[in-house]
Amino acid sequence: MDPKMWIDINTESHQYSLDHFVIPDHYETALSSVLIPHGVIMDRVEKLAKLIVQEATGPLVVCCVLKGGHQFFADLVNYIKKNVTRGGNSVPLSLEFIKVKSYSGETSGEVKLSLTDDECKEFAGKNILIVEDIIDTGKTMVQLLAKLKKYSPESVKVASLLIKKTPLSNGYIPDYVGFSIPNAFVVGYALDYNEYFRDLDHICVISEHGKEKYAI
Ligand code: 5GP
Repeated sequence: MDPKMWIDINTESHQYSLDHFVIPDHYETALSSVLIPHGVIMDRVEKLAKLIVQEATGPLVVCCVLKGGHQFFADLVNYIKKNVTRGGNSVPLSLEFIKVKSYSGETSGEVKLSLTDDECKEFAGKNILIVEDIIDTGKTMVQLLAKLKKYSPESVKVASLLIKKTPLSNGYIPDYVGFSIPNAFVVGYALDYNEYFRDLDHICVISEHGKEKYAI
């Protein structure tokens, strides 16, 4: 994807005050700012759906990477369906859900998929669209792609709502990106911190107090 094609979010111009938006009371003191308001996310997801439909060459297996990708996946699939019924490119969809666990440190650093070998064999000859919430270092996605390619899919594309600007990036860039964001820990729109904040609509930066309050 051409980097000019995504929205660059930076801390200078995109740190909206929490007072300007509706924030659940239980999270008010746990956040420092709103980075991407929900309405902007939805408008961007609609555009990504349009691009995906335009570029699709056949039926798609849309693969949700759980849990963080579930909200983006749900909204993206809804917009893809609307695009299809508007008389554009007609793209039949089937849906798949994968839980990915990555191991680092002393272990091999290999990702583990929740799908069985037999389930992965179903990918052979199919066009797969992986839907992920965020690319940080890129390690998880590179390993996931390597693993899926062993099952001989026809094509594999990746849509990530966010890509983080981090010096630790391995250079991996998905086919579709919603926003590039600063090197901060973000929550909301299904992205969690210790399983909290998935019930927040906006993408926000967690505060130091929030990290303490929701520490394990
Ligand atoms: P990577 O392998 O690209 O370094 O990490 C990808 C995974 O790390 C994402 O799928 C996500 O689960 C987690 N992650 C990385 N940065 C953030 C962040 O800012 N917020 C949240 N909630 N998760 C993150």
